Amino acid sequence: MDNTNKENKKIDSKPVRKPSIPKLRIIPLGGVEEIGINCTVYEYGNDIVVADMGLGFSEFDYYGIDAVVPDIKYLTGKKNKIRGIVITHGHLDHIGALAYHLESLGYPNVYGSLFTIELIKAKIEEKTEVFKQMKDKFKVVEENTKLKLGSFMIEFFHVNHSIPQCLGLYIQTPSARAVHTGDFKFDNSPINEPVANYSKIVEIGRRGVDILLADSTNSLKKGHPISESEVAKNLEDIIERAEGRVIVGTFSGLVGRLYQLLEIAKRHNRKVAIAGYSMNQTLRIAQEIGYIKIPQGLIIPVQEIYRHPPEKVLVLTTGAQGEPDAALTKMASEDYKGFELHKGDTIIISAKTIPGNDRAVQTMVDNITRRGAAVVQVEDMDLFTSGHGYQEDQKIMLNLIKPKFFMPVHGYQYFLRAHGNTAQSVGVKESNILISQRGSIIEGDKFGGFKITKKFNCEPLLVSGSGVGDVGTTVLQEREQLASYGIVIINLMIDKERKLVRPPFILTKGFVYVKSSQELLDLLSQTVEKIYYASSADFDTTIIKDKISKDISKLVFKETEREPIVMPILNFI
Ligand SMILES: [Zn+2]
Ligand SMILES: [Zn+2]
Repeated sequence: MDNTNKENKKIDSKPVRKPSIPKLRIIPLGGVEEIGINCTVYEYGNDIVVADMGLGFSEFDYYGIDAVVPDIKYLTGKKNKIRGIVITHGHLDHIGALAYHLESLGYPNVYGSLFTIELIKAKIEEKTEVFKQMKDKFKVVEENTKLKLGSFMIEFFHVNHSIPQCLGLYIQTPSARAVHTGDFKFDNSPINEPVANYSKIVEIGRRGVDILLADSTNSLKKGHPISESEVAKNLEDIIERAEGRVIVGTFSGLVGRLYQLLEIAKRHNRKVAIAGYSMNQTLRIAQEIGYIKIPQGLIIPVQEIYRHPPEKVLVLTTGAQGEPDAALTKMASEDYKGFELHKGDTIIISAKTIPGNDRAVQTMVDNITRRGAAVVQVEDMDLFTSGHGYQEDQKIMLNLIKPKFFMPVHGYQYFLRAHGNTAQSVGVKESNILISQRGSIIEGDKFGGFKITKKFNCEPLLVSGSGVGDVGTTVLQEREQLASYGIVIINLMIDKERKLVRPPFILTKGFVYVKSSQELLDLLSQTVEKIYYASSADFDTTIIKDKISKDISKLVFKETEREPIVMPILNFI
């Protein structure tokens, strides 16, 4: 046996603190108060390794926000300590923020499986400068790679999820060993990939793990998700029976599902048309790395669908969530160029509706039905399975790793707590379960265990157009307020004697229909005039504007129960 094991035994029987060794710090910058923005910092002495750097999705999408990225101020001050960013898998909630942050992190090396790295490259390509700088910085790792990054030694283990080549991380430092699962489930009959590497996980567990960070997405669900092969069987049944065209709506990130569908199409001699840019991109990469073999002539352009008999066509498309810009949504509302749904089509929605999207999905399904097409949804049959393990999968991971401390990640706070309860049910001590927040600093080692020692303010940054983080919550609240209630602009003309030249002029946009509200506008104007003269004694323009804005907001609310933005403008003539 090697030295590590002997050393472990000694330490396990008689823990001795070695003050000279730094503690391991774990800092989640995202992913612990939401599904998304996954990003965890591992810091040991002078070395930092970051696990994942993902995007989040904004509840404010309607106000010009493209994406949400983790707040990385903790890292920017420690740029020279970053030894690398290790990515568990290629989903956007794990890779999507790289394009925005690599520059401010000084272009560190990025490590991941071949498929993951290729997906990252495809996402970054359009940012020419970042792409140029990163040219030699992408490093492909395999399950057997042992990666030495400063004092960190990182090993990998394969897990099942919904995209190929997912890797869990075994992170070793001289003072503690951590396991970071990434998104995972245990699928004992996966499609086109090996079963999660039970034996390596067992071995890692045997070596001793001080703290486990594990995926909490489905911590509220009992049991196991059904196997991918069962989903494939159900999909095949429907496609086999369909007499016309079959259109399947799913996510482009569900690469395993896309593989299944292509295989089914091959078996049933259906040509495949792919509608949706991201889906085309993912399939191209999957083919390049050899995950999917697409025979010549299987894929046809959407425009050529009409050249083939309906029962020989399968269309793969994005938009299973009713997203306004996605192909299926557009097809449903007859807004998709070159392709129309009609009677005889079977539409399969192979995705679970994400809470909040129910109405959009319902509208889309209604629109499809109106075109005479049949819709088969996940509710009708098992046409979808989650890529994230349920409670029983989580128990397997906990039982195999046997961590001393447990830190649930990848979920809302409520999910983390549920995962904590599951951990307790398989023997992790309650006091050893750490429910963190963004910016929590979890510190510890194998001698004294782990605890949350500090928390700094760590609010996700909003990306609006080309700006990262320049749109704050205030700007968003203003956009929301503008969209809901409009704006009231108050124009004051002031002469040299500081007298108003004429009554304040009130201009509104999106607030009230002016013709029918003249009375209200007159009242506002008169009130502004009064406020102006009452507060113009010391003539501080900021105070005057502030007073007008506050008092008029109150008055408007009293009269209309609406809260528009009130903006006074003082003009001096
Ligand atoms: Zn994922
Ligand atoms: Zn994820």
